[in-house]
Amino acid sequence: MKKEIHIAQVIVNNNSLQTDKIFDYKIPEGLQNTLQRGMRVIVPFGMGNKKLEAYIMNIKREEKIEYKLKELLYPIDDEPIINEKQIRLIVWLKNKYMCKYIEAIQCVLPTGIVNKEKKTICLLEEDWATKCYKNSKNQVELLKLLEDLGGKATLEKLYSRLSTNNINNTLKLLEEKEFIKIDYEISSRVKIQTQQYVQLTIEKKEIETIINTLKNAKRQREILLFLKEHRECPVKELLDLLKANRASLNALVSKGYVTISEREYKRDPFKNLEFKNFPKLNPNIEQKEIIDEIKPYIHKEEPKTFLLHGVTGSGKTEIYLQLIEEVLNKGKQGIVLVPEIALTPQTIERFYGRFGEGIAVLHSNLSEGERFDEWRRIVEGKVNIVVGARSAIFAPFNKLGMIIIDEEHESTYKSDHHPKYHAAEVAAFRSREEGAIVVLGSATPSLETYYRGEKGEVLLHTLAKRATASTLPEVEVIDMRQELDHGNTEILSEKLFSLIKENLDRKKQIILFLNRRGYATFVSCKQCGYVVKCTHCDITMTYHKNMKNLQCHYCGEKREEPKLCPSCGGTHIRYNGMGTQKIEKIIEGYFPNAVIGRMDMDSTSVKGSHQRILESFKNGEIDILVGTQMISKGLDFPNVTLVGVISADASLNLPDFRASEKTFQLVTQVAGRAGRGSEKGKVVIQTYNPQHYSILAASQHDYDSFYKEELPIRKEYFYPPFVQLININFIGKKEEEVYTVSKKIANNIKYILKSKGYNKYDEIVFGPNPTIIAKVNEKYRYQLLLKDIDVPYRFLKSILKYLLMENRQKFVPASISLSIDIDPLYTMGI
Ligand code: ADP
Ligand code: ZN
Repeated sequence: MKKEIHIAQVIVNNNSLQTDKIFDYKIPEGLQNTLQRGMRVIVPFGMGNKKLEAYIMNIKREEKIEYKLKELLYPIDDEPIINEKQIRLIVWLKNKYMCKYIEAIQCVLPTGIVNKEKKTICLLEEDWATKCYKNSKNQVELLKLLEDLGGKATLEKLYSRLSTNNINNTLKLLEEKEFIKIDYEISSRVKIQTQQYVQLTIEKKEIETIINTLKNAKRQREILLFLKEHRECPVKELLDLLKANRASLNALVSKGYVTISEREYKRDPFKNLEFKNFPKLNPNIEQKEIIDEIKPYIHKEEPKTFLLHGVTGSGKTEIYLQLIEEVLNKGKQGIVLVPEIALTPQTIERFYGRFGEGIAVLHSNLSEGERFDEWRRIVEGKVNIVVGARSAIFAPFNKLGMIIIDEEHESTYKSDHHPKYHAAEVAAFRSREEGAIVVLGSATPSLETYYRGEKGEVLLHTLAKRATASTLPEVEVIDMRQELDHGNTEILSEKLFSLIKENLDRKKQIILFLNRRGYATFVSCKQCGYVVKCTHCDITMTYHKNMKNLQCHYCGEKREEPKLCPSCGGTHIRYNGMGTQKIEKIIEGYFPNAVIGRMDMDSTSVKGSHQRILESFKNGEIDILVGTQMISKGLDFPNVTLVGVISADASLNLPDFRASEKTFQLVTQVAGRAGRGSEKGKVVIQTYNPQHYSILAASQHDYDSFYKEELPIRKEYFYPPFVQLININFIGKKEEEVYTVSKKIANNIKYILKSKGYNKYDEIVFGPNPTIIAKVNEKYRYQLLLKDIDVPYRFLKSILKYLLMENRQKFVPASISLSIDIDPLYTMGI
C-alpha cells in the first residue's frame, strides 16, 4: 500500500497581514494518530524556523506532493481547544467582517489562552526510580529529565531536551500514576489576595483650604481632589490613573491627610455576594401568551429569532427567566447578553436569584486568569447559563438552546475593534448552526430589527403595558426657546425647577440626565475668541472642575486650567457648554439640602464605584442622581418619581443618520426610569427642538409613530435597512498621504465597478472625507462609505478583499493603517 502524506493546515499565531493565510505542514509519523482539527501545535516558521504556535484548521492526506513541506514540531494540546462549530464560526467571522484569521480565533478563545497559557510539569514522586518499571523507557527518560531540571519544567522545555515529538501519552500515564502533576497556568495571572487602599482622613470641606497650602505639590493636590470625588481607592489604581508616584502619596500620609490600609482584594464583585432568592412570578396574560408561543421552538430546535417589543417595565426579564428554565429542563444551555454588566446589576441579581450557582457571569473586571477559569467551567459543562456583555456570545457551549439579547438596540453589542462584529449577527449564525433560538428584547428596538419583524423574518411580540400596577409616566416637553423669551436663561426651566423642589419635599428621588460629562465642554477667551484645543486631536478640551484641569475626551491628555489666554494673554476665560459636573454644581446651589450623586465615566473610573453609587441611590442616601447615558439602562428604583432630561438636543445634532433614532431611544429609556413604583412618575424633557418627531414620539412612548416617520427617510437617503453599508477608515500621520491613498482606493473601487457595468459607482462610493474628528492622537483620519446601491453586497466586499486584504501592500503603504467596518453603527467615523 502506498503511504499517504498527512498534512496539517494551520493558522499561525502572528498578527501580521502577510501570515494571515493557511499554511501546510507535514505531520510527523508519530503524531498522525494524535493530531486533530482544533489542536494547537508548534511549527517552525519562516526563514529562521522561528517556533510559532499554530492552530490546526484542517487535516488532509495526499498521495504525493510536488513541493517540499516542513514538518510541524509537537502538539500543545491533548484535545482540541477549538471545536468543529468554532472552526466554522472562525471562517464565518473572517469572511463576514474581513478580519484576520487570528483576530477571529481570539474571539472564540478567552484572552490569555492565546500564547500565554503554560503547561508546567511537576515531579511528585521522589522515589520514582525504584517504583517505575524498567520496560517503560519513555517514562523513565522523562522522569529523569524532570529530576535533572529540578523537579519542575514547562512542556516547551521538555520538548527541547527530548528527541521525540509526542510525549502527551507518556505524561498522561505518569499523571495517572501520580508520579507527576500537570499545572495549567496563565502566565499573566495575578495572584494578589490583598490590596492597599487609600482613604481620606479629613473632611471634604477642609480640602480646599489644605490645597491652598500645597502650592508647589501638584500631584498631592490632584490626589486630594481625586479622593474628594471618590472617597477611597486602591493605591495602585490611584497612582496609575493620576500617573503619580508613591512619594506624593507618602507625603500626604505623613501630613495625616490620608491613610493607607490593607484589605482583601475582591476582583469579582459578584463573588461571595449573597443573592436574594428571586422566586418565579405568575406570568400575566401578555407574558403567558408569549412564553407559550416561544416554548415549542425551544423543543423544535429551529433557528428562529423573536423580538419582544415591550415598554420599559413590561416584564421582559420574567419572560427571559421562564424561557431559560425551559431550556435547562430540556438539558440545553443558554446565553444571556446584557449591554454592560456594571450598569445592569438588577438583571444579574434576578438571574442569580432564580438559578443560583449554575451561572457564569462574564464581566470586564475579571482578570485573565479568572476569565480562563470561567471558560473552562463552560467548556466542561459545569454551568449552563452564561450572563455577560458582548463577548459572552462566544461562550463555548456544546448544547446551546437559546440566546437572549436584552436591550438589543444598544450600541455596545457592536465590537469597536477588529473583527467589528455585532453580537446579534453572531447569535444568528450560532442559531443556524446549532439549532438554537434567539430572543431579542427592547422597548426601543433598532429600526433594522423592527423592519425585519414587519417583514416576518423575525417573529414580533408586543408588550404594551407595564407588568406591575404602575403606569407609564406622563411626559412634558419644555420648549427652551420660550424659557429664553420669558427671560429665563438658567439651565433649568421653571417647570423642572419647581417639580424637583416638590419631589424633594415629598422625599422622592429624582434622576437628571445629560449626555455629556465634564464641567464645561469648551473653554474660550472672551477677548480674542481663542478656544483651547487638544494639541494631539482636532477637538476642544473639556473643563473638569473637580480636578481643576482640561481633558481631551479622545486621547486623554490633561492640561492645567489656564489662568491667562494662551493666545492673547487676556484674563477673561469663559467656560462654555455644560456637562454633568456643571449640572451637579448648579443643582447643589439651588437645593443645598439635597444629597446629590453623579454617575458618569469620571465618577466611575474606580472599580466597584458603579455599584457603590447605585447602592446608595437604592438605599435612599442620594436624593438626586445626575448622570450620562449610564443611568438610562435597566435601573428599576420604585422611589424615583421624577426624571429630567436637561437637554435632548446633544444627540439630535450629531452628524449621523442614526441621530434621530439614538435620541428617541435615549429619551424613551431615561423616561422609563420614572414611576416604577406605586406612584405615577413624571418626566420633563428640555429641548430647543420641541417639534422634532423623535422627541414627540418619545414623549408619548410611541414607537410606532417614530418608526413611521423615520423609515421613509432612510429609504429616501439610502440608509439601512434599505442598503448595507461598509465604512473604511484610513489612518496615518501625514494628512496629505492619508488623503491621497484613500482617494486612490476610492478611484480603484469605482473603476472596478464601472468595468463590470455597475454604473451607479458615484452613489456607491462616498468620499474620501475627513472623519468628524479629523485628527486623533496625532493621526489623521479619512473615510470611505460604501452603499450597495444596485450592486450585490458580496461583489462590493470582494472588491475590498482584493484591494485591501489580498493586495494591501500594493495599494496601501505600511505607514497607513486601515479599519474596515462592515455594517457600521456610526458613519461619522469615530
Ligand atoms: P422590563 O425588563 O420589561 O423592563 P422588568 O422585567 O424589569 O421589565 O419588570 C418590571 C417589574 O415588574 C419588575 O419589578 C418585575 O419584578 C415586575 N414583574 C414582571 N412580571 C411580573 C408578573 N408577572 N407579576 C408581578 N410582577 C411582575
Ligand atoms: Zn487629544
